[in-house]
This record gives sequence, C-alpha cells and structure tokens, in this order.
Amino acid sequence: MSKLMQGKRGLIMGVANDHSIAWSIAKALAEQGAEMAFTYQGDAFARRVKPLADGIGCDLLVPCDVEDIDSVDNVFAQLKEKWGTIDFLVHAIAFSDKSELRGRYADTSRDNFARTMQISCFSFTEIAKRAAELMPNGGSMLTLTYGGATSVMPNYNVMGVAKAALEASVRYLAMDFGDQGIRVNAISAGPVRTLAGAGVSDARLMFNFQQNNSPLKQPVTSKQLGGSALYLLSEMSGGVTGEVHFVDSGYNIVSMPRLEELKT
Ligand code: NAD
Repeated sequence: MSKLMQGKRGLIMGVANDHSIAWSIAKALAEQGAEMAFTYQGDAFARRVKPLADGIGCDLLVPCDVEDIDSVDNVFAQLKEKWGTIDFLVHAIAFSDKSELRGRYADTSRDNFARTMQISCFSFTEIAKRAAELMPNGGSMLTLTYGGATSVMPNYNVMGVAKAALEASVRYLAMDFGDQGIRVNAISAGPVRTLAGAGVSDARLMFNFQQNNSPLKQPVTSKQLGGSALYLLSEMSGGVTGEVHFVDSGYNIVSMPRLEELKT
C-alpha cells in the first residue's frame, strides 16, 4: 500500500526537542513518507533539533525567530529555492512571559500582551501567507491550540486570549485560501509535558486534573497527536477546513467532574 504522505513536502516550525508536539507530528509524517524542512528558534535549540532532523533525512534546517520578519522571509526564500513548492505547514509556536502565566489575567502587562499575541497568534498569519504562495497546487496548514481559548483555565491567562485569536485566525485564513485548495485547521491538544507546557504555573496539577476528569481518563500521547495531525495534513481530511479538532481525551465536552471524583 502506498504511504499517505508519499511525494509530499512541508515545513515544520516549533520543534524544540524530542518532547515537542511538532516532533510528534513530524515523526508520524515521516513514517508516511513525507519530506520535511525544519526551523529552530536559535543556536540554543540547534543542538537538539539537528540530530532529530538528521534522523529522518531532513536536509533543510533553517533558524527562525518569528519576532524577526527577515528570518521568516529567509525560511521561505530557502524553501522556494530548494523545492519551489510545498504541500503542508505545521506551526507549533507559542510564547508568553512565564511571570504572567500565573495569577490573574487582569494583571497582564501591555508589553507581554503584545508579545504573546505576536509570537503565538500573528506569526501564524504571517507564515500562512508566505506558505500559501508556495502552494500553487493546494495544501494543508495546521496550528496548535488549547482548550484555554474557549473556557477559563487557571494561570493560562493571556495565552488563552492569544489562542482564541489564533482559532479565529484559522477560520479567516481557511476562507482566504479555500479557493486555492488550501485547508487550514488547528489541533486543540490536551496537556502535554513540553517546555512550553511547563511554562504555565501549576502545569502538573492541570495535567492530572484533566487526565482524571476526561472521558478517556488518559493522557494525550505523542502517537495520538501525530495520528490526528497526519489526518488533517493528508488527503484523508480533504473536506475539512477552518476546524478546531480536539485531541484531549474528550476533556472539552466535560462540564463537571464525575460525581464519584467529588465524593472521594
Ligand atoms: P515546545 O516548547 O516544545 O514548543 C514551543 C515552540 O515554540 C519551541 O520550539 C520554541 O522554539 C517555539 N518558539 C517560541 N517562541 C518563538 C519565536 N519567537 N520564534 C520561533 N519559535 C518560537 O512546546 P509544545 O507544547 O510542543 O508547543 C507547541 C504548540 O503546542 C504551542 O503552540 C503550544 O501552545 C501548543 N499546545 C501545547 C500544549 C501542551 O500542553 N504542551 C497543549 C495545547 C497546545
């Protein structure tokens, strides 16, 4: 049987190490024959990302800090020169000052609000626009969000607001690019132990609470995230765009924990 991503080329942004959600996705895509280019945020990350990328035969690894638009442009210039076109994009990038991922949302500073929105939300729009220019035959784009976009999660604060805007961006971009055959979707992942995840205060408590109170009562795995991303990036989801797809053991449907949990 031919592999789902055979002959497909794409860009993966947001691998920091082998715990990164972007890496879970890249592994699933590589198993299905995809060819990938990777970005890394800076020299500190190169040491970890290069061996991972090498391990799956990647020969285009480009530094990119989304706060620096020249570095974003350089990524797409290199992709254009090397491949001419791409078929998919994964954006798994977020940042907020740790000191504001605790306490009250009301105390968010102006500077950190703007920076969080730029890195965690607007970067997807800037990148999607450039990626679409390299997708003359259509394509699929994917970003990562979290349930804190639509309901209040302790300490998630400004990141929840940025994710809400990111989810709205997914819908607007899906409309903008739909007539070019380009689909745009998001995965809303349950909590995963990553660098970014650990930035939210009391992440461990949230992780345990969501796991214990989700219908499946299990943590989200790297394989599950990879599998859902593969679906959204491949032709298997050819009729799906503008969607936020939950991969969270079903936690998003729960309004109240099981009563037996409350009685213990
Ligand atoms: P991670 O720390 O492995 O990845 C975050 C990535 O963002 C890193 O690779 C980092 O280099 C990159 N990044 C941050 N600022 C950047 C900048 N200025 N320029 C370029 N890159 C920058 O953590 P992760 O959990 O894999 O995060 C990936 C995505 O998944 C994020 O959007 C995150 O919000 C989202 N997400 C995570 C969880 C979770 O529980 N870990 C849950 C839902 C959604």
